[in-house]
Amino acid sequence: MNIVIMGVQGSGKGTQAKKLAELKGWKHINIGQLFRAEMSGGTATGKEAKQYVTNGELVPDELTFRIFANAAPFNSSNLILDGFPRSVAQSKYLLEHYQIDKIIVLDLSEAEAVKRISARRNCSKCGRDYNTLYKKPQKEGICDVCGGELVTREDDKPKEVQRRIDIYMEQARKLLDFFEGKVKIVSIDASQGIDEIFSLLVKEVDSLQ
Ligand SMILES: [Zn+2]
Repeated sequence: MNIVIMGVQGSGKGTQAKKLAELKGWKHINIGQLFRAEMSGGTATGKEAKQYVTNGELVPDELTFRIFANAAPFNSSNLILDGFPRSVAQSKYLLEHYQIDKIIVLDLSEAEAVKRISARRNCSKCGRDYNTLYKKPQKEGICDVCGGELVTREDDKPKEVQRRIDIYMEQARKLLDFFEGKVKIVSIDASQGIDEIFSLLVKEVDSLQ
């Protein structure tokens, strides 16, 4: 069985996918992480990918497919896909080579996503993550571990957050249009707590088995 988890930044998609993979003993495939691992590992495909990324160019699908298939050979199962597919072309590829049983969308309003992402902070010294809503430091603005100053990453500033959300919404609409009628699609309300979302997610997966 294979599932795709979708969700806007701030929906907790990565955390949920990871928890699910641990519970089921399945493989969590986060396409962003795969790219980073290939690039830092200095593999041939990683070097190729790095050229595009360094030049600020889009990585061609053909290369993404190779990196994806390295981690998940055709027709493999027990995969939890996170961050892939991102386009209709990638979705077609996916359905050609893998069985996809369900698409689970972690549904979060734009306003809530903006609120959650804008609350993110990072330690300027050790990089540890904080969140002024859910994971506050003991002392405001100061890292608990190393005493470094907490800052907002460029990516998490309001204008950039809005831009990323707009891109996701547009992408999600196209993907869901494509998958409609081909794969079962369900939504989970991601405005709830991590544990509530997780138990609904497990239920959705168990209902397939
Ligand atoms: Zn720190």
